[in-house]
Amino acid sequence: MRSAKFGASIRKLFSAAVKSQNTKYECPHCHKIKINRVSTSVWKCKSCDAMFAGGAYSFTTEAGEISARLVSEYARS
Ligand SMILES: [Zn+2]
Repeated sequence: MRSAKFGASIRKLFSAAVKSQNTKYECPHCHKIKINRVSTSVWKCKSCDAMFAGGAYSFTTEAGEISARLVSEYARS
């Protein structure tokens, strides 16, 4: 990722994005904390090699959780 130089609020957003993309997440497949960001929105488990589409800078997003809930509610009815 390119550096962010201009504006305090932009720098704040930038550091939050970097922090969350370097965090490891739990794999929904094998439940190990082995999910790493491969590229934008692409996340891969180092343990079971499963690949997931997530948010650009974090594994789950608010919008993603809402749509997952809607899908599961639709599948139940
Ligand atoms: Zn896994």
